[in-house]
Parts: sequence; structure tokens; C-alpha cells
Amino acid sequence: MADRGTSIRIEGLTAGYGRGHILESISLAIEPGELVSLLGPSGCGKSTLLRVLAGLHQPTSGEILFAGQSVNRLPAEQRRTAMVFQRPLLFPWLSVAGNVGFGLKMRRVPVAQARQQVAEALRMVHLEGYADRRPTELSGGQAQRVALARALVTAPELLLLDEPFSALDENLREEMRQLVRQLQRQLHITTIFVTHDQTEAALLADRIGLLLGGRLAQFAPPRQFFTAPATPEVARFFGWQVIETPDGISALRPELVQVRHQTSPPFSASVPPLRGTLRSVADLGLRIRYAIELETGGMIEITCLETAEDGQTPLRRQPGAPVRLDFPPSALVHFPAR
Ligand code: ADP
Ligand code: MG
Repeated sequence: MADRGTSIRIEGLTAGYGRGHILESISLAIEPGELVSLLGPSGCGKSTLLRVLAGLHQPTSGEILFAGQSVNRLPAEQRRTAMVFQRPLLFPWLSVAGNVGFGLKMRRVPVAQARQQVAEALRMVHLEGYADRRPTELSGGQAQRVALARALVTAPELLLLDEPFSALDENLREEMRQLVRQLQRQLHITTIFVTHDQTEAALLADRIGLLLGGRLAQFAPPRQFFTAPATPEVARFFGWQVIETPDGISALRPELVQVRHQTSPPFSASVPPLRGTLRSVADLGLRIRYAIELETGGMIEITCLETAEDGQTPLRRQPGAPVRLDFPPSALVHFPAR
């Protein structure tokens, strides 16, 4: 298969509907063949950004370049993008093959060639043998695979997936993720995968772009969101516990924290040690969820494995018990007040 990877550059993009901006000066560069997850809360403008890239919505300002060429003035039908939405949106009166080949027909691809491309696309999504079925005869997952085949068959430069699996149940979603990842790697298609699910984003992406408040808050490999969040808002979105301190804001990675009795021998270097009082304890089976009021003020919530105490003083798992939080230095990120 030909190398389809195209670099994408977005420079100072601002867009909205009527008055007010939904997206504010977004700039990012996507490598050829890269899979980027666009992540953010509902309503933050993810779908708007995809529509702008596809040429379906006119930005207020900014530049979009595919392989170094501006596409701002290129109408949607001349941009080589393909989209997959949350729902498959198949034509019910066409067969599976008819749906997959629809775009090729519109582009007047010769019939024999189109048939071959459709067959190949159906094979890629493991639906060979389904060409003559009607959309009503497909399961939800199969219908979404047809939608994926319909997108891939046009050999897009940029594949845009807008929460494509959020209507499917978790088992199926995992299967579909693997299929997308495998095809995306095999075909080397530059891909933007929109999701509001940070686990899905982390599972799939080479890099995640997190949109918060209309801005690109951080654009980095998944791991960095868990080791080096760019702002307290990014930290909060990725499940860090955010604490106000006298000289700024700290973020604590809760999975790395041990809740211990204040007099237990230190388990690991805690910098700085955090002390507090247990306010509530919830038993989640293997893990325990503690709500802790810090000495310095503020509440935090820590869910951790129930660990055997190595000291003589077992932790009284009762509200009011004094506790110390032990954690490695990497579990704490500090944002000094500006
Ligand atoms: P997301 O995909 O991240 O959930 P959207 O891009 O769909 O967010 O929407 C971003 C914001 O723009 C929302 O506040 C939404 O209400 C608004 N919006 C979306 N489409 C339109 C439209 N066609 N006209 C007016 N406002 C819109
Ligand atoms: Mg959306």
C-alpha cells in the first residue's frame, strides 16, 4: 500500500459560530502517519476543529496546511479527508458494497476498479462476505466497520474519527480500537481521533492534544500528561489531585500515594511530607478511597491499594485519624504562583 502519510499544520486557528470564539489560536503540527487523539470535555470544540479541517466550517482566522500547502481556500470535496462519526450514517437503501463504494462512484472511478477497491476495504475491516448485506442486517460494530471501510476506500490524506466508538459497548470498543490502530499503522494514514475518554486517548495516540476552554492546553505523548502536566487545569483533567499551597499550586498523582499513619516509618521520600486527617474512607474491594483534609488546608481524595503496614502502628481507618501521605518525588508537580 502506498505511503499516505501527510503532514498537517494548523497555525493560529480561531473559529466559532456567529459571535464569540469556540477555538482560540490553535497551533499544532502533526507528523505524516501520526495518530493524534484530540481530547477534551464535551462542548470544548473537538467536532468543530474536525469540521474546519474537513472544510465543512470556515475558520475566523488562521491557516491550515496539508503537506505544506494551504488548504484554506480548498472546498471540502477537494480536500482528501474522510470522516467517521459516532453513528455509522449508512444509506439504508444501499448494500454494504454500495455504501462503501459511494464516494468512488461520485468521483467517477471506473466500475471494475471501484469494485476491487471496495472488496479490499471490506477485507481490511474483516467484512469480506458482507458486500451484499443491507445496513439493517448488521450489528452496531459491523455497521461502524462499514463506515470505516467507506472512509478508507477513498485513500484519504487525513482520517478524522469523531468519537467513533462511543456508542459501542466496551468489549467491542476495544476490538475497534485495535482495528483502527492496526490499519492506521499499516496504511500510515495521518489520523485525528476525537474522544472525551482519556484512557482511550492514551491507548491509541502517538500524541494527545488536550483542548480546554477553546485552547490547546497541551500537545504531547500520552505519558507526559501523567508525568509533566503543563498546567493545573491539565493536571485536574488527567486525574491529578490539585492542592493550593502558599506559593502556588501542587498536583499529586494519587496512584503513587500511600496513606499511612503519621508515626509509621517513612515508606519513601516524601517531598514535602503532607499530613492531614482522614475525613472518610470507602472500601472499593481491593482498593480504598480516602478523603483527607490536609494540614495546609483543602481536601484531597486518594484511592490506593490496601497495603500491609510495615510499622507497629496500623492505620486506623476511621474518620479523624491522623495520616501522612508518602509518595515518590515524581508524584508531585508544583506550579509556582506567578
Ligand atoms: P465537542 O465536539 O467538543 O463536544 P463541538 O465542536 O460540537 O464540541 O461544539 C463546541 C461548541 O460549539 C458547543 O458549545 C456547541 O454548542 C457549539 N456549536 C456546535 N455546533 C454549532 C452550530 N452549528 N451552531 C452554533 N453553535 C454550535
Ligand atoms: Mg463532538
